[in-house]
Amino acid sequence: MLRILSKSRYSGKIEGVVGEIAKKGVRVSTRLEDRIAYSKDFNPIHLNRMLKFELPALPDAVVFPSTAEEISLVMQICNAHSVPVYIFGGASGVVDGATPYCGGIALSTLGLNSIQIDGKRMLVTAGAGVVGGKLEEILNQKGFTLRHSPQSLYCSTVGGWVATKASGQFSTKYGNIEDLIVSLKVVTPDGEILEAKPMPRKAFINPADIFTGSEGLLGVICEVTLKIRKIPEKSFKVAFKFESMDEAVENARKILQSFKPALLRIFDRLESLKNFGVEGVVMIAMVEGKLAEFERDFLIKEVSTGEFIGEKPVEIWLKERFNVSDISKYVPLGIVFDTIEVSCFWENAMKVYRKILKAIRDVDGTLFASCHASHFYEEGLCFYFTFAGIRGDLEEYYREVWEQAMNVASKYASLSHHHGIGKIRAKWLQKELGGYYSIFRDLKTIFDRKNILNPSVAKIIES
Ligand SMILES: Cc1cc2nc3c(=O)[nH]c(=O)nc-3n(C[C@H](O)[C@H](O)[C@H](O)COP(=O)(O)OP(=O)(O)OC[C@H]3O[C@@H](n4cnc5c(N)ncnc54)[C@H](O)[C@@H]3O)c2cc1C
Repeated sequence: MLRILSKSRYSGKIEGVVGEIAKKGVRVSTRLEDRIAYSKDFNPIHLNRMLKFELPALPDAVVFPSTAEEISLVMQICNAHSVPVYIFGGASGVVDGATPYCGGIALSTLGLNSIQIDGKRMLVTAGAGVVGGKLEEILNQKGFTLRHSPQSLYCSTVGGWVATKASGQFSTKYGNIEDLIVSLKVVTPDGEILEAKPMPRKAFINPADIFTGSEGLLGVICEVTLKIRKIPEKSFKVAFKFESMDEAVENARKILQSFKPALLRIFDRLESLKNFGVEGVVMIAMVEGKLAEFERDFLIKEVSTGEFIGEKPVEIWLKERFNVSDISKYVPLGIVFDTIEVSCFWENAMKVYRKILKAIRDVDGTLFASCHASHFYEEGLCFYFTFAGIRGDLEEYYREVWEQAMNVASKYASLSHHHGIGKIRAKWLQKELGGYYSIFRDLKTIFDRKNILNPSVAKIIES
């Protein structure tokens, strides 16, 4: 028997709203299987609950618009009835961002699937619901690539990337999603379609910046224009071994302050052994493009202080880089498995690495905690912690880990590097934003007067 942990407050209103949406010709479903499919994101605690036939919530209906105009109609109707709308792309978000805790409408963007390539400007304009893997495949057929490659490439959407401020595995050279965005088309909560003509660099505040990373609180992103590049003609792989994380991280600083490899990752001892069978700390790197040969030689002969150990670890990583089976392996054993990513400046790097690992390991029930450095900047880096644990009250264990880790992060690091805030990190957002917090809260009230977009996240923004 399926148990819904949070009951809808809108089931009485929904029939009328669904009727109006259907009358406008927008596809809408109240079938249980569709509502279950749009009941949660990929936050791991939901997976553990599912084993007990528990769902965090259920939307009362799911809408499947295929144009910005259809989204506008849905928003106008929901706004008039004050019914919440939860936006779903690929539902690969991991921070409990769009769970329909209040009930109402789940809006799937997957029908917005157009792709237009402009080879001259080197831009692609994609519907928000285009799945990353599909976009990359189509670009590759024409000799282009986005080079934005999150581990979730095959289960996340273009709109989701913008909403969560996603980051890809090659971001060190090519930038994060915000560096690729040229323009956005957005529908506001009261149904207005916002569009500004794309330009290489826009005057005044770039409207796209307002919605990038807004996690579905301010509007529905319908279409995104992104920079593309030619597939690099040459690329080389190199790996190095270090005795300690300290040494490898210090070397990464020197590398980043000399040039930007396409890929750089440093795995702590636990992850180096697990992933590559190497005793030590492994750094992997890839260099790409016309200068790749020069950059490889520069890395090996001049800037790296580690022991050169060939290409094999990079090849292993490339083969496994979209493998996400760890999560499903642990769930049936009653173990919760999750990741926490934060960014920090170089001078705090080893403090953040040690303190967050210790904070996670000290929580009663932790089975293991490990870390790799995954994204790099001239000024600092991102640490990506992985942990698994088991305890009688699994949810209490899970909350405690996040509490301890975020308390450290809020002192020495960012709350998140690329997974976003969602419900999981909302408690610490005010501290992260300082004086800007009230400005963002006001912005939400202006854009979404009735608080109908992703209200479970918004509620925290407004508290
Ligand atoms: C195994 C795994 C690996 C991952 N690896 C990475 C990684 O390498 N890099 C990375 O950055 N992330 C990663 N993620 C996290 C996740 O894939 C990203 O956050 C991704 O950007 C979410 O896209 P989505 O389409 O699945 O969005 P969803 O999960 O559907 O939505 C995420 C949030 O964005 C909002 N949203 C979605 N679409 C829109 C829209 N069109 N308009 C407005 N709001 C919208 C939702 O309401 C929600 O709040 C990973 C997740 C998993 C499960």
